[in-house]
Amino acid sequence: MPHTSDFLGDVNRSFTKAARLTKHPKGLLEQICMCNSVYAMEFPLVRDDGSIRVIQAFRAEHSHHKQPSKGGIRYAPTVSKDEVVALAALMSYKCAVVNVPFSGAKGGVKINRNNFSNSELERITRRYTFELVRKNFIGPGIDVPAPDYGTGAREMAWVFDTYNQLSHNPLDAAACVTGKPVGQGGVHGRREATGRGVFFGIREACHNKKAMKKLGLDIGLEGKRVIVQGLGNVGFHAAYYLQEAGARIVGIAEMNGALVSKDGLDVRDVGIWRRERGTIEGYPKGRLVQPSSQALEMDCDILIPAALEGQISSENAERVQARIIAEAANGPTTSEADEILRKRNVLLLPDLYLNAGGVTVSYFEWLRNLSHVRFGRMSKRFESNTQQKILAAIETATGKSLAPDVLATIGKGADEIDIVNSGLEETMVFAYNEIYEIAQQKKTDLRTAAFVSAIDKIAVLYNEMGIFP
Ligand code: NAD
Repeated sequence: MPHTSDFLGDVNRSFTKAARLTKHPKGLLEQICMCNSVYAMEFPLVRDDGSIRVIQAFRAEHSHHKQPSKGGIRYAPTVSKDEVVALAALMSYKCAVVNVPFSGAKGGVKINRNNFSNSELERITRRYTFELVRKNFIGPGIDVPAPDYGTGAREMAWVFDTYNQLSHNPLDAAACVTGKPVGQGGVHGRREATGRGVFFGIREACHNKKAMKKLGLDIGLEGKRVIVQGLGNVGFHAAYYLQEAGARIVGIAEMNGALVSKDGLDVRDVGIWRRERGTIEGYPKGRLVQPSSQALEMDCDILIPAALEGQISSENAERVQARIIAEAANGPTTSEADEILRKRNVLLLPDLYLNAGGVTVSYFEWLRNLSHVRFGRMSKRFESNTQQKILAAIETATGKSLAPDVLATIGKGADEIDIVNSGLEETMVFAYNEIYEIAQQKKTDLRTAAFVSAIDKIAVLYNEMGIFP
């Protein structure tokens, strides 16, 4: 079993390693690294059977160099103050890496969501939101939560509704939380955004000739063997888009076992099986391996940890056979494991870059809520008309008719989903090249390069504020 990690220590060690490659004063680096504020709370839940259970929860705002701060809410038994602070710190750096103008925050409720009924989860979520409102830890310009491990669109709708009931500014209240259902002000593409961003990041890395040559792998995704740990929101979508692009999903690890198949598993089919039965056990087109952690050590090209932190540690890093580790989860590799893997020439795509697709599209949702207009609404028809005229001019000039499917795809204006996905792709591609360049210049790994990128960008803001002359 992977050990319980010193997650906050790992994040801070990565920060310190990168800080040594910068020239910022010690005090400024300390300000960037330290967590600004943490709200720890305990509140009672009246359970469905009438008994009372005290619930422990946190919200950490790691930084305030930009408003608002941003970060998900996690429901997991592992939640602690240190875990929330570590995740909030990663959010500060992540937003800087992908040029999203937010500071970093994170929330956590220490529960195993499977042990609570839907109405109990609703009461927990509403009370948690009420606590955040009372202490000024939520608001469109203050701190904006989003989904994370164990939460989704439904919980975000409860957060929004509770905030909205208490808000004195109902006009902008929807921007108090992202990852909402589309009918409640969510944006198309947010649910799959983190996994899609993971896919874009892996695709970029696999098209880098130099990097692939060093690993002894072919360029591109076609035929690459992938194992994913965690078939939740992030893991499912990352695996799904990789499969669509030609990769072979040879392993899917969940809590109670891992499904493996040399010929490849159909991600959608496994997802449907799990949704209908609550488990991947019994799925007929794969072999079940237990314990599920074995999947981390199986032969593959790309390993995607997409569950929780500390999964690849000094205890199993030597046995990991993957050539690429794509950190879809936050903090899945401990700093000791990181060293071991680097010496073994494994390419690590770091969490603070790779899973930033979620916060990127959350940014788009926040913008949509504040502007009160769906992306594409003002321009779609105009674009479509212009493109139709260009296509008609081409047909006249060439004397040839274009095929109907060409006319339909090129002659159409962009929908919200097209705009969101292209904004996400641009963000992930640009940030990959930015951190790759820093890694080349500083002769370092991608994680350290991503931290350098974040530290430099945040330091510039403090310097501009004249706080550290
Ligand atoms: P989720 O709750 O939707 O899914 C997590 C899945 O992992 C669940 O299916 C769970 O059963 C499985 N799992 C847990 N422990 C496991 C283990 N030991 N072995 C195998 N499977 C295990 O959560 P998510 O939203 O997909 O988040 C996953 C990770 O991605 C977390 O680290 C989270 O912080 C990170 N992340 C999420 C988002 C987002 O938008 N949801 C954004 C950025 C980062």
